[in-house]
Amino acid sequence: MRMTNQRKMILTLLKKSHMPKSAEMILADLPDHTMNLSTVYRTLDTFFVEGLVSKSTMKNTSYYYMTHQDHHHYMICIHCQKMYEMDCHLDDIAESVAKDHHFKITHHDMTVYGYCESCQKELNL
Ligand SMILES: [Zn+2]
Ligand SMILES: [Zn+2]
Repeated sequence: MRMTNQRKMILTLLKKSHMPKSAEMILADLPDHTMNLSTVYRTLDTFFVEGLVSKSTMKNTSYYYMTHQDHHHYMICIHCQKMYEMDCHLDDIAESVAKDHHFKITHHDMTVYGYCESCQKELNL
């Protein structure tokens, strides 16, 4: 993959971020304004295909984060969209299943959706 300056800038932003970011949020955070939203989308999509970033989708918006940044996944409240980091315990399971199928894993993706404590109270769940 060719590392253009634009790609570097987007990656740097994602690396610095502690929370997943949408393309719109990334665009707003970019220091130079030569990029448009479709460039950001295309770049993120390339990163995703390469396994460099993971994404979680909420209400038709995708939020991106670095795949190997401490290897976390996210729990997202589907009401208020608050995100919680969670440790990953998938690698061992995935590896053993992969072995059975002679499958070579490059990366994986996981998002857990539900209601946070305050939304459960608000919605009487
Ligand atoms: Zn909530
Ligand atoms: Zn994982």
